[in-house]
Amino acid sequence: MKIDKIVDELRKFPTNYSNWQDYSQELKLLKKNAVDSNDEILANWVWVVEQINKIQNEFLSLFNLFKIKDFHESWCLLERIELKLKNVMKLYEFEKDEFGIRQIEKVVSNFQDIFPYRLFISTELYYKEINCSICDAKISPRNFCGHTKGELYMGEIAHHIVNEVGEFPGIAMVDDPVHKYAVGFPQGEDYDYSLVEKTLDKLSSPFDDWEVKIERKIIPWKIFYSKRKRKRQLNDEIVKCPCKSGLRFETCCKIRSDGIVSITYKFKFSK
Ligand SMILES: [Zn+2]
Ligand SMILES: [Zn+2]
Repeated sequence: MKIDKIVDELRKFPTNYSNWQDYSQELKLLKKNAVDSNDEILANWVWVVEQINKIQNEFLSLFNLFKIKDFHESWCLLERIELKLKNVMKLYEFEKDEFGIRQIEKVVSNFQDIFPYRLFISTELYYKEINCSICDAKISPRNFCGHTKGELYMGEIAHHIVNEVGEFPGIAMVDDPVHKYAVGFPQGEDYDYSLVEKTLDKLSSPFDDWEVKIERKIIPWKIFYSKRKRKRQLNDEIVKCPCKSGLRFETCCKIRSDGIVSITYKFKFSK
């Protein structure tokens, strides 16, 4: 199969997603041929097409995970799609609606906004050795191998491989982590996914156009506690967190240093 033919098929994705096909095997072969004939431009283009193919594939898997209500797995997949989108969008300028990529980007970001996760575990890792994914050279501030992170070289993206992780100096709870995978799951408690479920009920297809506007306010502790005193809700053990995560206050926002996050959502569905 020629690359142009595959690209044509991938362009139809937004209207033809129900008959979607995985072209990863064909693309792998095309890239191998390009590399063998030393055609870097073609090899790099195949890499871009591979990413589009993977993003479309994962976007459909996302809705399958939603169907079986595997919400934490969906959350991790949202993060993986986001990272792939970021990488490929730096290297290829997508026109509006091309391959459905911009719509996927929008939907992914919308879903990330309505998940009930508020706090994340951030491990402060100490890297002992980092290598270049292209040439395997050891990377240090004084030693640049010539491969720039995020650039393409013969159909592969350059990234840093962490080969050895040192001791953990500590873990912290943060609300805006570098990696969103590390959600804390307090024992015996469940997050409240009703907002995600209600949104899914409103959608007739993954490509429905919808918007959500979010307002986050931090209620300082002083104000929060005086309000609660008035409401006689002093027993932290039984009180659900006002941030609507579904967790008990004790295991949720109580560990924040600044106060409680109050979130308001405004939805707009096109259909
Ligand atoms: Zn290198
Ligand atoms: Zn909370």
